[in-house]
Amino acid sequence: MKKRLLALALSFTLALSASSCGKTEKSDENTVKIAYLPITHSLAVLEEAEELEKQSGLKVELVKYGSWAELLDALNSNRVDGASVLIELAMKSKEEGVGLKAVALGHHDGNVIIVSNDISSAADLKGKTFAIPHRQSSHNILLNDALATAGLKVDDLNITELAPTEMPSALASGQIDGYCVAEPFGAMGVDLGVGKVLFTSEELWEDSLCCGLVLTDKFIDERYDDAKSFVASYKTAGNSLDKETAKQTAKKYLNQSDEVLDTSLQWISYNDLDITEEAYNELAEKVKEYGLSDNPPSYADFVKNDF
Ligand code: ZN
Repeated sequence: MKKRLLALALSFTLALSASSCGKTEKSDENTVKIAYLPITHSLAVLEEAEELEKQSGLKVELVKYGSWAELLDALNSNRVDGASVLIELAMKSKEEGVGLKAVALGHHDGNVIIVSNDISSAADLKGKTFAIPHRQSSHNILLNDALATAGLKVDDLNITELAPTEMPSALASGQIDGYCVAEPFGAMGVDLGVGKVLFTSEELWEDSLCCGLVLTDKFIDERYDDAKSFVASYKTAGNSLDKETAKQTAKKYLNQSDEVLDTSLQWISYNDLDITEEAYNELAEKVKEYGLSDNPPSYADFVKNDF
């Protein structure tokens, strides 16, 4: 009896794995797996997913993650073909030998320095606690830029890394005095009345880079034509993201109120998502200046603009 049950279980398992294996192989041929976090900074890839299949038959499988660490792990181990990711995180992976290329920007501008209502200048941040999502981020660079306006450095305050979703409540409870993070979590702090905008990103760093669309070398090498149409269609999707389209896409994927999205989407744009050499080199300089890395990858090694 035991033997029969075992045999039955075994054949069931085999049947299951055969069918799921077949399915995976079949769907993989026409699918691009892209990792993202549910933030306004990844709207271009979310918008593209809707359009691409209609245009070219290529299907985008969006894989949602809850943190940059988990997303990066999937990207670095080729479990996805690409991601919308903080460009500094991808630069660090590239520096450590992971095969990745940045093929487009995620967005333009779109970050704010949020502070509690009793802080009125960068100088007031001295001795206070400030949250960023990750050391390898434009949020860290923007904090450094903001402090520089008052002759301060990050050593003059306490820096803490928090998950984006925790920042508005941490500000409300007084655990932190300010934060800079991907949107719409800055707008959420403003909407809740617990904080205000001290600087927008463009006031500190014109043409700032933040998120990038990154593809794995494996995907580009093995499926060059798919990568090419994916990138072209991604840029088209970015150009189509006016405020209203962006809001509709955000409402579908982000589970945020109209008020928060209206505030947040004022600060960001998605047109013309090419990564220029000039803007990238400025980023690389800041990465070195503020100690994120001594040896960021060169534009020629890391950015692919020639599909
Ligand atoms: Zn971003």
